[in-house]
Amino acid sequence: MTLGIRKTIVLVLVAAIFLLANMWLVMNWLQDKGVIDMAKYVRKEFLTGTAITIIVALLILLVKPAREAAGRSGWIRRCPVCDHRLLGRGGYCGDCGSKV
Ligand SMILES: [Zn+2]
Repeated sequence: MTLGIRKTIVLVLVAAIFLLANMWLVMNWLQDKGVIDMAKYVRKEFLTGTAITIIVALLILLVKPAREAAGRSGWIRRCPVCDHRLLGRGGYCGDCGSKV
């Protein structure tokens, strides 16, 4: 954990406590600005159960190619079958024995 992450966590924590303490004020302010009505409308019209399912499925599917691309482009290669780190230039995985 780096110092930057710790500072961010502390700042987020302080901001969250301030928001919780002034919850009623924040709610009234959001209601005045029409943000809550807008959010209700968007949820009713666009965020149906099907849409949420599709979004979650896309998030799950989109994570994998990015990790594989990172594994291929770098100096360290990974086995496409068991994700074991490959050492050297051999054509076979040392862990599961599959051809790379
Ligand atoms: Zn393997």
